[in-house]
Amino acid sequence: MLRDCDNPLPSVATVTVRFYAELNDHLAPELRFTPFTLPLGEDATVAGLLGSAGVPLSEVDLVLHNGEPARCEDHVASGDRLSVYPVFETFDIGSTQRLRSRPLRAPAFVLDVHLGKLAAFLRMFGCDASYATSSTDEQLVRISLEERRVLLSKDRALIQDTRLERAYAVRAGNTREQLLEVVRRFDLAGSAKPFTRCLHCNTLLVPVAKEAVLDRIPPRVQERCDQFTTCVECQRVFWKGTHYTRMVACIAEVLREARHAGVAPLEPCPQSHLHKGNDH
Ligand SMILES: [Zn+2]
Repeated sequence: MLRDCDNPLPSVATVTVRFYAELNDHLAPELRFTPFTLPLGEDATVAGLLGSAGVPLSEVDLVLHNGEPARCEDHVASGDRLSVYPVFETFDIGSTQRLRSRPLRAPAFVLDVHLGKLAAFLRMFGCDASYATSSTDEQLVRISLEERRVLLSKDRALIQDTRLERAYAVRAGNTREQLLEVVRRFDLAGSAKPFTRCLHCNTLLVPVAKEAVLDRIPPRVQERCDQFTTCVECQRVFWKGTHYTRMVACIAEVLREARHAGVAPLEPCPQSHLHKGNDH
């Protein structure tokens, strides 16, 4: 019988990793929601290990390294344990523990060119959602960094850009489910301010007197509506048009589902009006 010291097995350096919440979406099914080991190369860092696991750094907010908050560049040794948590929006873990310096609160977004409908839905919800049909990946990264916006994209390669500090890979396929996903993920239900932003250019709407916009609204709307808002940027005028009821219902439904229970009361702002221009 061999003893260990007679014929030692080659030791393989490994680290035990456990990912939490939606970070598991990036893992193979057998690795989700359970600790598993990763082989450890020389000079392995926290960021390197997350990359080797296929988890975008931009979705990670907190890493506990043997129980202590870690930084991206911290070195990891064989036998260490890492617990990896996603960007927290729903509860405060204390800014000193975070992987990055600034916690994300009341997030603003920038969306890639394929998520135009989601951008409009987010604006309808009252969220600050930057979007342009011509944005390049480089521009999106720059906007995200300079304006501290969460980059939303379905493009994993883009989300994994290591320069990004705030990014989230949208999982859902259709726009309504995408909205629900983002509202849940970033805990937006409590801060929804429906119909306060221009759906077209993201600018905050301001109330405007009917007399001031008579030349921009159809006669039948002049007869039916008395409350209007306008976008000072693109000059569009909004009122409670025929689309309004449908949009209110959509928002109420998303809020209800996002909150998981009961009926979510929808309280549109006093100045919350839709729809723009074509009321038919
Ligand atoms: Zn506008």
